[in-house]
Amino acid sequence: NTFAEIDLGEALNLNIRRCKYVKPTPVQRYTIPISLAGRDLMACAQTGSGKTAAFCFPIISGIMTGNFAQRPRGTRTVYPLALILSPTRELSCQIHEEAKKFAYQTGVKVVVVYGGAPINQQLRELERGVDILVATPGRLVDMLERAKVSLQMIRYLALDEADRMLDMGFEPQIRKIVEQMDMPRLGERQTMLFSATFPKEIQRLASDFLSNYIFLTV
Ligand code: AMP
Repeated sequence: NTFAEIDLGEALNLNIRRCKYVKPTPVQRYTIPISLAGRDLMACAQTGSGKTAAFCFPIISGIMTGNFAQRPRGTRTVYPLALILSPTRELSCQIHEEAKKFAYQTGVKVVVVYGGAPINQQLRELERGVDILVATPGRLVDMLERAKVSLQMIRYLALDEADRMLDMGFEPQIRKIVEQMDMPRLGERQTMLFSATFPKEIQRLASDFLSNYIFLTV
């Protein structure tokens, strides 16, 4: 049971070794093959279970190997291919730091945006290019309203700590964000929902956002 046995590609495997990950954690072992196979996923996983890698590896691998339509250029709107939503600035920054290590020298660009910090610097960073956008819901909605970000080309959506996002009152923002992804779009979206608990509200999100999904508790 090693990462080399999971088909993540050379570059990603090298970065995994650089991170000194040897064995996949249980959540990684069960979710990564499902996501690599293109299936939607709802996983009950606690903090510290290794879920960041569980959603980042398939996203990075998919972006490296996928064929995507040319993204519009020469506009000030950016078109990320993957979106990772998380409840707080701290968690978003943590995910961003980890994702950058995993994507090192792969050409896949990761950018983070969050509230409570000046928006202009984040917008300048976005304009330099973004494949994977890590965001808190409120700041992303702000950027969508300013037409700085388009979600029309999102191919991968990961919702991290979904129960915490709902506890913090982000459901309207999350629904608004996902609605924008369902506007006329090219290709399919693959969605991964991670939550520590699975109350009714999360079940409703799962049935609204996921299609034909696999449910895992680790
Ligand atoms: P997470 O649950 O994603 O926040 O990960 C918790 C911690 O475990 C982080 O410090 C990760 O870098 C680390 N980690 C995740 N997966 C592995 C792994 N397969 N082997 C060793 N450490 C890991």
